[in-house]
Formats: sequence, structure tokens, C-alpha cells
Amino acid sequence: MNAVVVEHLSKAYGKTQALDDLSFQVNEGELYGIIGPDGAGKTTLFRILTTLMLADKGTATVAGLDVAKDFRAIRRCIGYMPGRFSLYQDLTVEENLQFFATVFGTTIRQNYYLIEDIYRQIEPFKHRLAGKLSGGMKQKLALCCALIHKPEVLFLDEPTTGVDPVSRKEFWGMLLRLKQQGITILVSTPYMDEATLCDRIALIQNGRFLQVDTPQNIVAHYPSTLWDVQTDNMHALLDDLRHYPSIKTAFTFGAACHVTPQENTCPEQLMAYLTGKGHCHISILPIPATIEDCFMVLMSKQDNGRQRI
Ligand code: ADP
Repeated sequence: MNAVVVEHLSKAYGKTQALDDLSFQVNEGELYGIIGPDGAGKTTLFRILTTLMLADKGTATVAGLDVAKDFRAIRRCIGYMPGRFSLYQDLTVEENLQFFATVFGTTIRQNYYLIEDIYRQIEPFKHRLAGKLSGGMKQKLALCCALIHKPEVLFLDEPTTGVDPVSRKEFWGMLLRLKQQGITILVSTPYMDEATLCDRIALIQNGRFLQVDTPQNIVAHYPSTLWDVQTDNMHALLDDLRHYPSIKTAFTFGAACHVTPQENTCPEQLMAYLTGKGHCHISILPIPATIEDCFMVLMSKQDNGRQRI
């Protein structure tokens, strides 16, 4: 059985189409990433799947239950960690966990094995008010609270946004261990580097999935050659690249520009063009595509499609 089945789901807020005829399935035990920028529709999708909001059109089931009709049963068998900190700031770490266990009719002891690995890290602060925890610790506590009733399906909405890189890494380590316990996990994130840790990812933009596949397949099917281009004048580089007709796309990536050349364009031609534009210390290196490169190409295709319409 699929853990989640979504068919033709749409949701609008006034004139904003947050979800646009979305269909997909998540397998049982899968770690499924929904990757996309702010405003892409991730939170709206999670709110519908966690029964907090109704769709305008379409259907969805979670653990075989209908999100509209069986909302009570769904709430018992899912865990949800919303994007914003969801815990009680004026309760302590321990009191928050106790509260969530009680609400779900269980005890901390009953499912402690599931959270032990995570809770041990915040246990030294168990008497601290949740509102006084650091970002990384709040996130660990929120995950413990979402897990304490042993959910079948876990929904994590941007759990690592605003969290330091070390805590982000630790958090993903925890998700991989939870997956080994058989829990299905849907996780949304704007961080492309996290996407590579998922079994499959859906790239979302404007309420539509641009592509769904394993991270390995997505990068393997990058449609062109890709170059990492750097010069002594990075400020002017992007603009100069975008005015060069033999280039399909150019995007800034950290300290470099990632460039997709037109077919039959060789690095020497680009080197000559950039030299003519006054650039020095020019480096042009072929590189493998990352998820972010794939996403940029897919997004620009969607934008071009819209412009043509
Ligand atoms: P994400 O989680 O990917 O940032 P959201 O689902 O929050 O995306 O938002 C999708 C779109 O819907 C955005 O354009 C956002 O501005 C809009 N939106 C979200 N919630 C509301 C709301 N309550 N009222 C009006 N527009 C909303």
C-alpha cells in the first residue's frame, strides 16, 4: 500500500493558486523530499495532508485514510512538525513531551526507544523552558513531540530552516535512522543539499511538481554540459555571460557561475569572449550537475513556458 496518495489536488487563496492539480504517491517506508523555494506550495500541501485544511479540488489519502472524511483517524496515525516552532514556549522540555504523549493517549516510556537517540541530546536541558532553547534544540524537541505516539507517517515542514549547519546535518542523520524503523517521512526543504539524502524528491514550483525521481536520476539526466566559470571580476561576470549568445543559462552558485553552453560551444570560445570583455584569471571547468542546477533549468523552462503563454 502507498503511504500517501494524492490525486489532482488544487488549492487557491483568492487569486493565488497555491496547489495546481497535483498528483503523486509516496511508498511505505520512503523518505520523500518536497524541494522548492518559498511560496512554492509546500506548507499548503502539508496542511491538507495533515487534515488542517481542505483542498478545493482533488483527493488525498494518508495511510489509506481519506484526508477529508477520516481526519480523526489520520490525526492519530501521523506526526506533524510544522515550519514554525509549534511547542508550548512556557512549558519545559519534559513537560512538552509529556503533554504530547498524554494527548495521544500514550506515555513517554512506551515509545521512548523511538526518540531516545534524539531526546538524549536535549535531556540535560529537560527543565528548561522550550522558549529558551536554541534553534537546533527546539527542532529536536519538536521532532520528539511529533514522534512520541509512534506515527506511521511523519510530516516535517522545513524542519531545518534557520538551523545551523551542524544541527542540520545531525537532524538528517536522525531522519535516516527513523526511516530504518519503517516510518514513512515526507519532508520539505528549500535546501537543495538535503535533497540528496531522500529516496525520492519532488521539485515543486508554483504549486506544481516539475519533476519526481531519485536524486541520482535527476542529476544523471541533466540535459547538457555544465561549466563552473570564475574570473577576477565576478561582479560583471553574470551579466557578461547572459549577454553571450552561445550560452543557454548562467546562474550564480556561491563563489562561481554555473553555465550551460549551447551545443558545439567550446571553453576556448567563452574564454576569448570573456577576455575581450576585460576579465582576467578566467577558469572554466566542466562539472557534474547538482540538484540545484537541475532545479534552475526546470524553473527557467517553466518561466519561459509562461512567458510564451
Ligand atoms: P511554501 O510553504 O512553499 O513557502 P505556501 O504553501 O506557504 O508555500 O504558499 C503557497 C502560496 O500561497 C504562496 O504564494 C503564498 O503567498 C500563498 N499563501 C499561503 N498561505 C496563504 C494564506 N493564508 N492566504 C493567502 N495566500 C497564502
